[in-house]
Amino acid sequence: MKRKTYKINRIKLFGMLALLLVLLLALFLLARVLLSGDGTTQGTARVTQEPFYTPAPTIVDLYAYFDWTETTNDIAVYDHRADKLVTMSLEEYIVGVVSAEMPAYYDFEALKAQAVASRTYTLYSMAHGGCHTNPDADVCTNSKCCQAYSSHERMQETWGRDYAENYNRVAEAVMYTAGEVLTYNGKLCDALYHACSGGQTEDSENVYANALPYLRGVDSPYEDPMRQEDAEIGFAELVALIAAKYPESGIGEDNVRSEIEIVSTYESGRVETLRLGKTKITGKQARNLFNLRSTMFTIGWSENGIVFHTKGFGHGVGLSQNGANGMAKHGSTYEQILHHYYTDVLITVYGEDGLPDLKHETPDPGEPSLNLNPEG
Ligand SMILES: [Zn+2]
Repeated sequence: MKRKTYKINRIKLFGMLALLLVLLLALFLLARVLLSGDGTTQGTARVTQEPFYTPAPTIVDLYAYFDWTETTNDIAVYDHRADKLVTMSLEEYIVGVVSAEMPAYYDFEALKAQAVASRTYTLYSMAHGGCHTNPDADVCTNSKCCQAYSSHERMQETWGRDYAENYNRVAEAVMYTAGEVLTYNGKLCDALYHACSGGQTEDSENVYANALPYLRGVDSPYEDPMRQEDAEIGFAELVALIAAKYPESGIGEDNVRSEIEIVSTYESGRVETLRLGKTKITGKQARNLFNLRSTMFTIGWSENGIVFHTKGFGHGVGLSQNGANGMAKHGSTYEQILHHYYTDVLITVYGEDGLPDLKHETPDPGEPSLNLNPEG
């Protein structure tokens, strides 16, 4: 009898265990179905820098933590798209400039470096006559005259559904560095910057009139090598372009191939002089004439015409935005980035009197200059 009972109990036990296993499997499958939505989103979510506030604020929240109008004087901005003069605080303007001048997905330290460069550039320009095309304005929004600028309408057009996230990211970089400018010998710097140097920035006098001690050519080792371009111009167009601008060059379709040569380059590799037949032009003039990305180019020929192999994008003086992003990705702070691209400058805080206040010291890189965390 005992053996029989034991056998029955054992069968019951196995049955219960099997039932339990089936129930567990069902629960597991149910949980997977319920959580599948989250799983997919997490898999494709973009990796962004962790904000130092929680929860992530909306645009309105950011304004609540930071009184823009208290920190800086208002400036008059001529919006060339809307054709009107707008008054806003300097820091608000800088958010619009950084939004337009640097991709919002760039590393946070690069955005901060850009904010300081743009703020310095703005104040330097204002101290030297302001906007040259609009006498009533301190600055304008036309990148061909002053710095590029995005209004909120423009940001929404450009960024679409990423508008709030991108705006917050840029605004945070601007607020973190609020009031900070670059000075040399106690004076504001002409903080020039460009998209990508091609590996080496340029001495200012090789591009512009003045040799400025803080605008020296430096290595820019962490740039994205994608910024290389082969620009082809067909023989007929090439001859027409040259003949229209430099008719004295004597270049025609019969001799064009043998009459274009690079005469000299700077140490950086940028073209100093290009010969077009009987005429010699600067690398800068060549860049304008052939609409090249930079003056760092070499020449080749194809069946159809000339091929300009260019490296970098922009004039090459001062901060390389692409290089700043590369340095940031390799662990540099925005202060280190600025000190790399601007030789022997100080990062100081813009004073209340409208001049750099040298009594302020550069904030410690480990400490945010502004505390945006409402919890302390
Ligand atoms: Zn302007």
